[in-house]
Amino acid sequence: MAGYTCPFCQHAIANSSETLTTYSFDFSQYMSSHQIHSPASRGITVTPYLIHVEFHKCPNCEKQSIIVKGVGSEVEGITSWIHPVSSSKQYPSYVPEQIKQDYEEAYAILNLSPKASATLSRRCLQGMIRDFWEVHDKGNLCSEIDAIADKVSPSARRALDATRKIGNIGAHMEQDVDKIIDIDPSEAETLLKLIEHLMQEWYINRHDSDMLLDEIISISSAKEAMKKDLSQKAE
Ligand SMILES: [Zn+2]
Repeated sequence: MAGYTCPFCQHAIANSSETLTTYSFDFSQYMSSHQIHSPASRGITVTPYLIHVEFHKCPNCEKQSIIVKGVGSEVEGITSWIHPVSSSKQYPSYVPEQIKQDYEEAYAILNLSPKASATLSRRCLQGMIRDFWEVHDKGNLCSEIDAIADKVSPSARRALDATRKIGNIGAHMEQDVDKIIDIDPSEAETLLKLIEHLMQEWYINRHDSDMLLDEIISISSAKEAMKKDLSQKAE
């Protein structure tokens, strides 16, 4: 990949020797390289268990993230996050802890159990609706989504309903084992993308506009004070 997004601060990073170091390992060989080339071109043999360990260093927040990637035929396709534990975004402190925890857990088990991940996404979404829109007296997600119908766009509403239904597949699967419908990791990941989208639209945008309005108000009060000061001097 040519670029990378820092999971800690969401900064887009171009891969270079300052931002990415890759190590290749298998049972008997080890090689480090600052260059982004295929293992073969670095003189390393691609054996069935060859893995890459990538260290990404963010020039913006200085934090490092670590990912293990399978390269050999036995481990091909494996992408395992070591630090942070998944590619989930790290949200600021004004997003409630329980909501962040559900979101991060849903990400952490995405490949292991997409169904459980979808169930957690559904719970996360419910937490967001209850907290952000202050919906408290409804009892189930279906009526909670109804309660905010006039506050979100029709397409967002349909997406919320769809998440509720997909999450139900995981939540109610034990009722009839013959009727289990599978959810694959990419489908479960799409639900997480919706949560990230709403996290931005709801929490982050509200916070950013609050900050902007506060700034304007404080500029205005400073100007008022200056004006008062000047007119006192004139008297
Ligand atoms: Zn960063």
